[in-house]
Amino acid sequence: MKAAIFDGQDISIKEIPKPELENSQVLIRVKASGICGTDLAIVRGHLLTPTPLILGHEFAGEIVEVGKKVNQNWLGKRVTSEINSNIDFECYYCQREIFTQCISRKALGIDINGSFAEYIAVESYLIHELPKNVSYIEATFVEPLAAAYQTFETMPLGSDDKTIAIFGLGKLGLLLTQVALINGLEVIVIDGSDKKLSMAKKFGVKHLINRFEVENVVNKIREFTNNLGADIVVDTTGNPEALIDIVTSCKTRGKIHIKSTHGLETPINLTDIVVREITLYSSRCGPFDKAINALSSGVVQVKELISQEYPLDDIKKCFNSYEKNQDHIKSIILI
Ligand SMILES: [Zn+2]
Repeated sequence: MKAAIFDGQDISIKEIPKPELENSQVLIRVKASGICGTDLAIVRGHLLTPTPLILGHEFAGEIVEVGKKVNQNWLGKRVTSEINSNIDFECYYCQREIFTQCISRKALGIDINGSFAEYIAVESYLIHELPKNVSYIEATFVEPLAAAYQTFETMPLGSDDKTIAIFGLGKLGLLLTQVALINGLEVIVIDGSDKKLSMAKKFGVKHLINRFEVENVVNKIREFTNNLGADIVVDTTGNPEALIDIVTSCKTRGKIHIKSTHGLETPINLTDIVVREITLYSSRCGPFDKAINALSSGVVQVKELISQEYPLDDIKKCFNSYEKNQDHIKSIILI
């Protein structure tokens, strides 16, 4: 099969054998696979992985083979897959049903081979069937949308949580924006791209801040929040320097939620966090069912977030243009 292999320096297309199917697995013919900030961090050398490795973990496709221990009804189904594989179902976290933190877990496309390939073998417990009205391309948003929903699963909203400032309007930021609006929050978005800001406006955001056009981002956020700062501030920027404004623009006794996985050291004023009793949250993977339902019912829009689609052969071109274009939101590899 054809696969995009990352060797620690570069990505190249190679012909390799199809994965051998274990009894508990299904073989998926990948149809579409999205590029994530995590993939970029790996290619930039900021996030270390074993190599050679097939990257990619936001994907959907058709099941073309099922292992002996898997229900044969899965054959031919259109599916997407969660990313935390190799679950032992017995560790401290598994006993508490926190499977995404299993001590044995290996993430598809990060620890073990992922989806920038014609086929991927995944454990059957990871797969979710797609409703007919959710396309393979739309389904590449299920994983990041689940992560957006998880923000509010790990950070319960209190009666004083009215405003949320979202730093960064990449794919995750724009998904999170929509989920925050669904939760009834007043949303403030901060980004350097007018195109992305206007998309947030289209989704219903009233407070837009272009960080290149205002003198002081924090003052602008205070202007929108009775000079208090935002009740919740979320980082989806992938930019460590944003952390300075993220802490300063959070209300005293407010909440900061970190979503970026850029693999870099970050400057963060912990003393300010302690003195002003700010609570720090973080989260990543989330509930796939909620995300699939949101796409199927249309309460979350993803089609507009697609910036470009490339065939697998041109994956390097796709990664390169991602790096150069400020307005870029989401790239999809069609396989
Ligand atoms: Zn476990």
